[in-house]
Amino acid sequence: TEACLTAIDAADALNAFVHKTPEIALERARAADARLQAGEAPAMCGIPVGIKDLFCTEGVPSQAASNILKGFRPEYESTVSAQLRDAGAVMLGKLNMDEFAMGSSNESSCYGNAVNPWRRGNDATPLTPGGSSGGSASAVAADLCLGATGTDTGGSIRQPAAFTGTVGIKPTYGRCSRWGIVAFASSLDQAGPMTKTVRDAAIMLGAMVGHDPKDSTSADIPVPDFEAALTGDIRGKTIGIPREYRMDGMPEEIEKLWSDGTAMLKDAGARITDISLPHTKYALPAYYVIAPAEASSNLARYDGVRYGHRAKLAPGDGITEMYEKTRAEGFGPEVQRRVMVGTYVLSAGFYDAYYNRARRVRALIKRDFDEAFAAGVDAILTPATPSSAFGLGEMADADPVAMYLNDVFTVTVNLAGLPGISVPTGLDSRGLPLGLQLIGKPWGEADLLNTAQVLE
Ligand code: GLN
Repeated sequence: TEACLTAIDAADALNAFVHKTPEIALERARAADARLQAGEAPAMCGIPVGIKDLFCTEGVPSQAASNILKGFRPEYESTVSAQLRDAGAVMLGKLNMDEFAMGSSNESSCYGNAVNPWRRGNDATPLTPGGSSGGSASAVAADLCLGATGTDTGGSIRQPAAFTGTVGIKPTYGRCSRWGIVAFASSLDQAGPMTKTVRDAAIMLGAMVGHDPKDSTSADIPVPDFEAALTGDIRGKTIGIPREYRMDGMPEEIEKLWSDGTAMLKDAGARITDISLPHTKYALPAYYVIAPAEASSNLARYDGVRYGHRAKLAPGDGITEMYEKTRAEGFGPEVQRRVMVGTYVLSAGFYDAYYNRARRVRALIKRDFDEAFAAGVDAILTPATPSSAFGLGEMADADPVAMYLNDVFTVTVNLAGLPGISVPTGLDSRGLPLGLQLIGKPWGEADLLNTAQVLE
């Protein structure tokens, strides 16, 4: 813990930690020592971790990287961070992210962007660690902590993991409790670990999951021993390669990564089969209707009364002006864009044309996966991202849709509620990490982690 705290102080330039909690860390580290001496050894005992700012942490600022939550110190602890604490994990502080987890580069944060510790060869251009869990990815990649929590609504664990050479798993929807995690799009949001290795991910995931009566969508099903599942034996497993993920203009390096990964799984005894997931091309538009729709509803609670920031009012201002000024000052441009899109697609005249249609597309995407699994496929291999990490500012200044295209390989998994993992599997020609994604069956995290380990 002391080594991590020193490393964190020396790495302020990465802007990964937005709130440091050294006193809490040292107190928990001492408590972990005492537990070890007493012969207790819970899974995460004494392991220093960072917590994404989207998780409410008792008495510690939890702002979802938004000005609208400035000064908010929750009186409660999210279920996932409480479970980690109870399993002996040591919280080092809160990690940077895109505002309300909306983004793919960590550039929408009210704290400014986190920075990727990787560089393109000798080129000093600072790169994005990805988003929205950019601080988590940067901190793990730079060895500021041994693991970090992330959340993934459309790729926010898997894309930053791929951009930083780390491992990130989004579990099946319902595996982790969402209680105490600031809501973005409730039917898509899931927490998960970001770590250096698949084994670490298995251990940390085990401490994060489980049924929670405080989240009605959390599943009351048995939790396997994820670490014990890492046998390395994938003989006889069937891996599907979905042809619709072979996008036009896909960089050759990504193609090669994908075929190298396929060969590794084959060499380990898996059977490789081409599959079709025909509705893939509708996933991104459906996601960018459903996610903003749910966000616009979830973000209605930031009204200047119940949490955080309230704008200064002029004489004569009424409640409408208070809402307008507070939300205009408190939300950044990307969040405002999402609220406007979401409100539009839910409005009476457009609900059927956009929101209901997107929901129907979502059902078809889920059915594509169901059919592949029913035909005997155990896991699906795809690239995690369409490129390696891009330069800070390179995308943010472009059309927002260019940023949304980053999520093309990841959103299908959230729409279908499936588990997905990103594993670092190679470097591109400029020396930047690239990741492959494995998609598993519902509740199949143990198998998925075991298969992922073969790709490491
Ligand atoms: N980049 C996607 C978005 O902006 C996904 C974000 C996430 O998974 N939280 O919505």
